[in-house]
Amino acid sequence: MKKRIALIAHDQKKDDMVDLASEFADLLRQCILVATGTTGKRLHDEVGLTVERKLSGPYGGDMQIGAELVEGKIDLVIFLRDPMTPQAHEPDINALVRACDVHNIPCATNVTSARMMLTQLVPHHHHSHN
Ligand code: PGA
Repeated sequence: MKKRIALIAHDQKKDDMVDLASEFADLLRQCILVATGTTGKRLHDEVGLTVERKLSGPYGGDMQIGAELVEGKIDLVIFLRDPMTPQAHEPDINALVRACDVHNIPCATNVTSARMMLTQLVPHHHHSHN
């Protein structure tokens, strides 16, 4: 099964997300990608990735991703939050991170942890058992 990865970046972190996705583009192309609206558009337009786009975060995108996650449909979350700017949808942000903890789904909230997680991600391949 292909890994299904959720990608969310707040406005001040979107450039970092584009850089990160460019760095890991070969790996990400082997995954199914889900993103909030504007993040997804930038990943498509600037990195050329195929992305399932949800609503923008402040309009419920985090909750849409959270709903998929609690149903077991998300394997990994990269959530580049901006810790310096108050967000109107703070409750949604906290709910998504909480859902990751409830369901034990890896969630990277900064670039360094995201890089470590992606480096550890075993890409889609077939094992031969002997
Ligand atoms: P966006 O949503 O990708 O649509 O900007 C993320 C956010 O800023 O909450």
